[in-house]
Amino acid sequence: MTAYFECYVCSDQSETRTCDRCRNRLRGAIAALPELYVHLTMSRQRAKGGGGDGRSSKRLHAPVPGDERVLNLLGSASRQPITGAKDQVGDTPFLAVLETWCEALADERGLTRVRKHVTPMTARLTAHLGWICEQPWVVDFDEEIRGLVRTVQGITMTRPRKILLKGVRCPSCDELAMFRYYPGDWAAECGRCPAVKLDKRDYDALVTSQAIGLQGVKS
Ligand SMILES: [Zn+2]
Ligand SMILES: [Zn+2]
Repeated sequence: MTAYFECYVCSDQSETRTCDRCRNRLRGAIAALPELYVHLTMSRQRAKGGGGDGRSSKRLHAPVPGDERVLNLLGSASRQPITGAKDQVGDTPFLAVLETWCEALADERGLTRVRKHVTPMTARLTAHLGWICEQPWVVDFDEEIRGLVRTVQGITMTRPRKILLKGVRCPSCDELAMFRYYPGDWAAECGRCPAVKLDKRDYDALVTSQAIGLQGVKS
């Protein structure tokens, strides 16, 4: 008999403390961070006005809305405490968010410190994601990491677009409601069934099975 929990993050029934869907979403958010950091850095160069048009970038520009947010996020990783994640994202610099969680992880698990660069920190968080997902504070972790992703996507205008996957029926509700996000990790989701999330291989298998007219695809 399987024990069931309420997922810490979404409160759905789950065999694990954090359900697979929330865990995968969190894994995807962490994986997106290194590239988002690069986009953010490029936004700062634009914000500074050294736009590659041959003009001096030394001239001071009055900040336009948005620039300040970029500079805040890129600010030296100050050791502001992150408490409860309320309204902190956006003010807390990008690297400081990661650093705080990496330090908490190192303390709790007795790990050596990682370099305070994006990739070593995201690699560390990913490596311990299974354990993180068993801790009650995963809900705060999730909120901050995904909040950071959303904030940076908003500033750098890299927020993925929803694309309808035409002509494909959801294996669960049978509606033409499948979509994916682009750009993003390849996953097909159903707009009606939160539990439906297919990777590329499963999606291709679904398309193939529908194309050859198989009925009752329920897995
Ligand atoms: Zn969940
Ligand atoms: Zn569905």
